[in-house]
Amino acid sequence: MYLFHNKQEGWLMDTFEEFQKNIAAMDATRRAITVAEQKDRCVCGGCPTTNECMREKGEIFYCITGRSPVCTFEKKGCICPACPVTTSLGLRKAYFCIRGSEQDQRQSPQKKP
Ligand code: SF4
Ligand code: SF4
Repeated sequence: MYLFHNKQEGWLMDTFEEFQKNIAAMDATRRAITVAEQKDRCVCGGCPTTNECMREKGEIFYCITGRSPVCTFEKKGCICPACPVTTSLGLRKAYFCIRGSEQDQRQSPQKKP
């Protein structure tokens, strides 16, 4: 995990917080491109927890979009820790399809299902 010092606000941000801050400052087009670049690197499709429902809905990239709104899961392992997005965005959580996005899990720590 990397920490960044924000000189203007005087507090330390980790990599994910820095990413959130950067995309919030982008215009809509640049933000969409940046998010799509990360989504293209998502390895959810090769995860043992991925199931037919998720494939039918075309769902991936749960670390940003949040838990699946309709599909249910049997936990069979999560390969998020090995995903390049975890490294580039400084993610600390996993099982995003079940537990919610990185932001949601950070904001609402809950008992793990
Ligand atoms: S960390 Fe997990 S949910 Fe996020 S892009 Fe990678 S595989 Fe997909
Ligand atoms: S979030 Fe994790 S457990 Fe869920 S499908 Fe993606 S890699 Fe698998």
